[in-house]
Amino acid sequence: MQQILVCEDEAAIRSFVVLNLRRAGYAVLEADSGEAALQLYAAQPTAAVALLDVMLPGIDGFEVCRRLRAADPTIGIVMLTARSQEPEKIEGLHCGADDYVTKPFGIGELLARIEALCRRVQILREKNGDGDRMQRGIFTLDFRAHTLSKNGKPVELTQMEYQIVAYLFSHAGEPQTREAILRCAWGESFVGDDKVVDVNIRRLRVKLEEDPSEPRHLLTVWGKGYQWED
Ligand code: CA
Repeated sequence: MQQILVCEDEAAIRSFVVLNLRRAGYAVLEADSGEAALQLYAAQPTAAVALLDVMLPGIDGFEVCRRLRAADPTIGIVMLTARSQEPEKIEGLHCGADDYVTKPFGIGELLARIEALCRRVQILREKNGDGDRMQRGIFTLDFRAHTLSKNGKPVELTQMEYQIVAYLFSHAGEPQTREAILRCAWGESFVGDDKVVDVNIRRLRVKLEEDPSEPRHLLTVWGKGYQWED
């Protein structure tokens, strides 16, 4: 049974969605705030799809989206936006959401989108092995255990280094800006210089590259940022 994490602060909408998801055969975890959703996910990181309302009392749905995406590159994420305004959708794209549904929505449309996304997630997780791991070349990322191994040998990483690798892994082959890496690895609330990304990349190269001065995996893309290559 596929599990859906539903995060919506309006009780009437939440119970309506949850009821319909259960009727459609899904297991459902419900949260009334972003913080509660992240706690539920941390305790039981098994959801195929997260349905996140954007407007929430504490941290907003975009922030929840970024943190879930950093923790699990394969989870499907649908944002519930209150308006059909473009800026919200664009911000959603940058935080790693897969799809959007604008309120008010038809339950049939929402279920169809969730079903389509569940199928994509299942295919992606099967391709990646047991669903907990992502293999890229000689590297394997285990995003449940938060570990990385190279040629089957574990690499000691700090939490920050792990978050950066997990983010770049899930966007392999595409340059990522320092700002995007910061936001996804540390969250919206991070205050500091984006030079911290450079410092962590240097340390990662020492740990991961054969020759850190000639990186083959953690590439610098001039004028853009960093990119993972297998
Ligand atoms: Ca709301």
